[in-house]
Amino acid sequence: MSFRASVVTLYPEMFPGPLGLSLAGKALTRGDWQLQTTHIREFGTGRHRMVDDTPSGGGAGMVLRADVLSSAIDAASPAGDSRPRLLMSPRGRPLRQAEVREWAAGPGLVLVCGRFEGVDERVIEGRNLQEVSIGDYVLSGGEMAALTLLDAVVRLLPGVMGNQESGNTESFENDLLEHPHYTRPVSWEGREIPPVLSSGDHGAIAKWRKAEAERLTRDRRPDLLNRS
Ligand code: SAH
Repeated sequence: MSFRASVVTLYPEMFPGPLGLSLAGKALTRGDWQLQTTHIREFGTGRHRMVDDTPSGGGAGMVLRADVLSSAIDAASPAGDSRPRLLMSPRGRPLRQAEVREWAAGPGLVLVCGRFEGVDERVIEGRNLQEVSIGDYVLSGGEMAALTLLDAVVRLLPGVMGNQESGNTESFENDLLEHPHYTRPVSWEGREIPPVLSSGDHGAIAKWRKAEAERLTRDRRPDLLNRS
């Protein structure tokens, strides 16, 4: 069974979106991964299929209702589904490559996309949703976050990325940022490619790349060096 993504959203038209193009899109067409969407609106209450209501205690905006959202989640991911259930949320744990790798090795993911002010807290508890953030900024909905997360996961699935090797030296693998890249022309606007890269000495090249990766990480993301 290939990796199966189920997205619970008020905007199913946003999927596969950019994931229908390029390597992810080809892999989707081949069946290397699957994508299903569940439209929260179909589980709305009343004649108008209401999905949200005003926040208890007052305040701005609207909140996705627990009864409506849980029904949509249950349709997408019935009891016994072994896939992790994630809620896209700025309050969540920041997304990291190590987790992306774990999820890519698993059966798939259920991704719940919030809208408005967010979702009723009881659904997070009652449906065991793991909150995941794609960064310290606020989006208008979870859909772009889900697309971002899926893009990161899908490119790691077997057969999706042509060159498997680029997986291991890449930024965040080994808690380092990647070394700089160059290609032809050798001279461009008076700037040259570092001579070591044309030396043919693979040991020296590997050493230079490692040193550059460490220098960039120290300068830009010292926090990566000291984390587990
Ligand atoms: N009132 C909320 C923000 C709601 S934004 C707060 O202050 O925390 C609406 C929806 O967009 C959220 O429910 C979530 O699903 C999504 N979202 C917004 N920012 C996000 C981020 N950085 N990462 C992942 N999802 C995000």
